[in-house]
Amino acid sequence: MDYKLINKVEIILPCSLENDEYVDPENKYCRFCKKNEQSTTFNNRSHAIPEFLGNLSLLMHTECDQCNSFFSKNYDTHLSVYTAFERSILGIKGKNGIPNFQHDSLLINVKYIENKQQIGIDPKSNFLKINMEKSTFTFNFPKNPFIPYSVYKSFIRMSFAFLPIEICNKLESTRLFLRTKNKIIEGSEVNTTVLKYTVKDHFKKLKLFIFQKAQESKVNRPEFISLFVYNDKAYQFHIPNKEMDNNTEKLQMNIIPVFENVYDIETFNFNKTELERNHTEKLTFQFAGIDSRDKSENFLRSLE
Ligand SMILES: [Zn+2]
Repeated sequence: MDYKLINKVEIILPCSLENDEYVDPENKYCRFCKKNEQSTTFNNRSHAIPEFLGNLSLLMHTECDQCNSFFSKNYDTHLSVYTAFERSILGIKGKNGIPNFQHDSLLINVKYIENKQQIGIDPKSNFLKINMEKSTFTFNFPKNPFIPYSVYKSFIRMSFAFLPIEICNKLESTRLFLRTKNKIIEGSEVNTTVLKYTVKDHFKKLKLFIFQKAQESKVNRPEFISLFVYNDKAYQFHIPNKEMDNNTEKLQMNIIPVFENVYDIETFNFNKTELERNHTEKLTFQFAGIDSRDKSENFLRSLE
């Protein structure tokens, strides 16, 4: 492999960290705007990975309140919409407990009533498919409107939090890219293509890996690659910068082989800056212990 792992975090949900932990040293210095306690404030609990994803305790000293609010408002709110259905259906607790989900079409919802999950699906919709041979059920669920570019920047913000601080200090262009609504770095449009694939049986886990290029290759590879795995979906992307990448040539990226069983490999370009309204995503479960037709039919009835 041309890449070496430089940082990694794994959280089992509900949050497997018992106490607050920090990803960085205690001196309060914002890695995003380079201000310190003399020139800005550090009063927020700045989560290295957004709290709504289930990370209740992994925090950072190196994000000031101003940057924290800017990122939450402009980027993370869209990641929150993007992941809303799966967080609700898998029962992932954020700041305010497990979220309910309601799609704008009103054809599908997930509610918690007295801690019991209730899924409502309009039977005329095609949001749920049952495969009796494979014993699986697949939600083909619609997402509420989100801005893809904001989701992408939320990914980059998360990755930037896990880069060693001395590397962050070198990547002035990435910092500017994050702190503004820019789509360009040094006059070139940032390539927002993300390699996306499904990882088998990976529910209720959150992982982030950061890789750095270990050797030169004939093709132009990005210096830093980040792999964010949330439940059964993996998102692999490069950390855009002009300081260490050669952006004049097309960057090429292969899947970094972290997982053995991956499928549904696709590329998705998060370059849209308007609301994406018709995005659907698949979420497939195996019925555990339900193997007779009779029980499956009961399951079907229970949704009506
Ligand atoms: Zn800051």
